[in-house]
Amino acid sequence: MFILQSAAQLEKAIIKAKKTRTQVKFIKFGVYAVRGSKGNFYTVKCERGEHGEKIVSCDCKAGQSVKPLVCFHAASALALHTGLARQRQTA
Ligand SMILES: [Zn+2]
Repeated sequence: MFILQSAAQLEKAIIKAKKTRTQVKFIKFGVYAVRGSKGNFYTVKCERGEHGEKIVSCDCKAGQSVKPLVCFHAASALALHTGLARQRQTA
């Protein structure tokens, strides 16, 4: 789990996500299943914290480590999530 503070944090993960061209499945708003490199799916959750912080969690190994990395699963899910969130705000 990590708190998203700036787009710069995602830069590397987005590059990897683009290269990998993974598949993101919409489960519900804020919950996505993202295909990993071995064809398995990881669950990525995008939530809002108590103070409005953007909390992102992924159940892959990188997402579970003590110092979690922004994995490409999270970056892929976030790309979809931010698009959906924007639509909701303008709807
Ligand atoms: Zn992940």
